[in-house]
Amino acid sequence: MPEFLPFTRPTLDEATIAGVAEVLRSGWITSGPQVKAFEAALSRHCGGRPVRCFNSGTATLEVALRLAGIGPGHEVITTPLSWVATANVVLEVGARPVFVDVDPRTRNIDLAAVEAAITRKTRAVIPVDLAGLPVDRDRLYDLARRHELRVVEDAAQSFGANWRGRTLGSFGDFVSFSFHANKNITSAEGGALALPDESLVARCEQLRLQGVIRSGEDGMDVEVAGGKFNLTDVAARIGLGQLPHLERFTQRRRELARRYFERWERDLACELPPEDFTQSNWHMFQVVLPERVERASFIAGMREQGIGVGVHYPAMHLFKLYRNLGWRTGQFPHAERIGRGIATLPLFPAMTDSDVERVCEAAKKVLA
Ligand SMILES: *Cc1c(COP(=O)(O)O)cnc(C)c1O
Repeated sequence: MPEFLPFTRPTLDEATIAGVAEVLRSGWITSGPQVKAFEAALSRHCGGRPVRCFNSGTATLEVALRLAGIGPGHEVITTPLSWVATANVVLEVGARPVFVDVDPRTRNIDLAAVEAAITRKTRAVIPVDLAGLPVDRDRLYDLARRHELRVVEDAAQSFGANWRGRTLGSFGDFVSFSFHANKNITSAEGGALALPDESLVARCEQLRLQGVIRSGEDGMDVEVAGGKFNLTDVAARIGLGQLPHLERFTQRRRELARRYFERWERDLACELPPEDFTQSNWHMFQVVLPERVERASFIAGMREQGIGVGVHYPAMHLFKLYRNLGWRTGQFPHAERIGRGIATLPLFPAMTDSDVERVCEAAKKVLA
């Protein structure tokens, strides 16, 4: 039996591991010079825009909403087909998440449905680039401009992706990234926020750490109840060691995705993702199983074949928390159907071409 193939695994080089040991020995292990260096590198990646790091992509989203002035009485439109953090942060700032259905082909938020859901209370949209496939930024920002809405791009999964050749994070309103262990670039846990404007940096730093404002040798004041969201230098050093590999990781993920399209048996009647090899960073390769297949048995069957399968994600408006706020089965048929049948197959840079073949063969066997 070959080794178990997980659906993802981080690739960390020896220089990064040694670099982390160096930070641990340095006497300064929480936010310090490594965070500054990571932010500078991320800012270069984002075309020089200001970037600040956080201890998670969730904290990053929450701070973006606060910087955008979103709070009680406001509505924020988002997709039900995402990690639940995307909507939880809206509740966290006291606003109301408003879900709309997804486009069944891209599995990303349906921008026509966004437009139809706008009310007098709508202040922002949180689009999510599911699996790293970018939401149409031209239509998104055209809509935002026409309706005077803020945009908080949840680009947790799309670091390294681009829209028509423009790197995500280098343009637009707020752009939020995550460096969770499963993301394309990791710092174990962490996140980064690309800001639309240099003038927001001071407030962003206050919201990150208890609202503290320092001045001179000993001056300290607080004017806002900030969070405790700072990234450690240990984590930042991991992220710094990952960034130089971004281009190679993304290319390898695209090659592996291509391989899936070549080898996947079409007779299995699974829905495949859009074949985008230029914009998406292929954070995940996800198929939607046919309705006749029970996903739990598929996952168990694949595990018996030595292959890990993930679920990203069940439609979140059907979670108890959101049902209790009034959301119901039947409201978003595409998101609900995809959420029931979606399965994440192994895809990570250290995989070999024959690993892809192994997955395709196993799926054929299990679905037969
Ligand atoms: C990972 C993820 C987040 C949250 O990031 P954390 O770093 O885990 O807090 C938010 N949204 C999406 C779409 C994600 O995939």
